[in-house]
Amino acid sequence: MAEKITAVKGMNDIAPPVSAQWEWLEERLRVLMQRYGYRNLRTPVVEHTALFIRGLGEVTDIVEKEMYSFEDRLNGEQLTLRPENTAGVVRAVAEANLLYDGGKRLYYMGPMFRHERPQRGRYRQFHQFGAEALGFGGPDVDAELIVMACDLWQELGLEGIELQINSLGQPAERQAHRQALVAYLERHADRLDEDARRRLHSNPLRILDTKNPSMQDLVEAAPRLMDHLGESSLAHFDRLRALLDAHGVAYRINPRLVRGMDYYNLSVFEFVTTQLGAQGTVCAGGRYDGLFAQLGARPAPAVGWALGMERILELLREQDRLPLEEVPDAYTVVPDASALPRVMPVLRALRRQGVRVLMHAGGPDGMGSMKSQFRKADASGARYALIFGEDELSRGQVAIKPLRGERTPAGTPAGQRLVALSDVGDWGGQLRQS
Ligand code: ATP
Ligand code: MG
Repeated sequence: MAEKITAVKGMNDIAPPVSAQWEWLEERLRVLMQRYGYRNLRTPVVEHTALFIRGLGEVTDIVEKEMYSFEDRLNGEQLTLRPENTAGVVRAVAEANLLYDGGKRLYYMGPMFRHERPQRGRYRQFHQFGAEALGFGGPDVDAELIVMACDLWQELGLEGIELQINSLGQPAERQAHRQALVAYLERHADRLDEDARRRLHSNPLRILDTKNPSMQDLVEAAPRLMDHLGESSLAHFDRLRALLDAHGVAYRINPRLVRGMDYYNLSVFEFVTTQLGAQGTVCAGGRYDGLFAQLGARPAPAVGWALGMERILELLREQDRLPLEEVPDAYTVVPDASALPRVMPVLRALRRQGVRVLMHAGGPDGMGSMKSQFRKADASGARYALIFGEDELSRGQVAIKPLRGERTPAGTPAGQRLVALSDVGDWGGQLRQS
């Protein structure tokens, strides 16, 4: 036998019944976006590598070691499978000049690619859903986005998700803080781990983000960016806080919250849970007013977040909030394949009424025994078996048999009943309403 070909490590198939959970979550997200006036944008999965190098910054985890980059064999272009979608959204918006008549509220969803060590909640192909508000500079949209995410947790029935916020100020303020920070860290160079020493002069802010327990005291006492913020940055932050308070949205100010990407300024935030092990951030975002200019486009303020679909689904599973598996309303039992020309159009009419009908499929030798058909009807989870036997069909009827212990209004077990083929549509319509 030929050698089996498997999926690429860290990249997963999403098959039924789990795929139905994805569709369910995607639908909830779409409905939420419509309520807030966010509209769908779809960008390519492949972009020029330069977009991410310029957009995310050279010394970020993603650009340093996580990108799937390759050379186009035909024209030598340097391309990359998108590791995130914010840079792509900004590119697309600038390229089509979508901000010509004012700000835009957009959302996206789809696969992202990062070469990381696969583990629970961390994959090489994973899926993000993101919302971005472009062309708006005020803290009102920051608040809108955060509240929108809170609505989502509430609607999904998720609990125990903590909101952390911080302000990264403006580049000049970060510069002043950076000098103070580097000076402080240099004074304690003996306590820095290898990673921190490497970042000391390239991206010292990221050192504050370290997970190394032996460096916690050190970063705890480090100079705080918040103490270097000017009046207008502080005002933006205070106004955001006031709006969150007005919604009754609880948050914790985490002065060490910095985001992985270079492009953030002012508001940054993360939604974190302790229920997913080490991969506890389910949604993260912030303001990125400098990104348009960084990508060579006309400057425009912007803010957004992205959530990890796998992590949200995992949390839904953890908190037992996933919907029950979808089952068909009816499963057909057809003893003789010669009846199919009469039966199949009836099934089609039922489906047009919105009834979910699963047709028993025969094989090359016919439909199989009644016993095996009933076994399959039962296993399908259907509420009813529709029995198209020779006797029933000769009288222009179908027998409808309850499979899930249905009761009559009087409380006795409901039995099988006969319905004229011409009335089956009505039966289906009633079923949909019940
Ligand atoms: P982390 O610190 O966990 O690596 P990140 O800062 O790299 O996260 P972002 O780039 O902000 O994450 O992406 C937004 C969200 O996408 C994350 O909060 C997380 O829920 C999800 N996410 C990021 N990377 C992965 C991955 N490799 N697999 C699954 N989900 C991911
Ligand atoms: Mg990461």
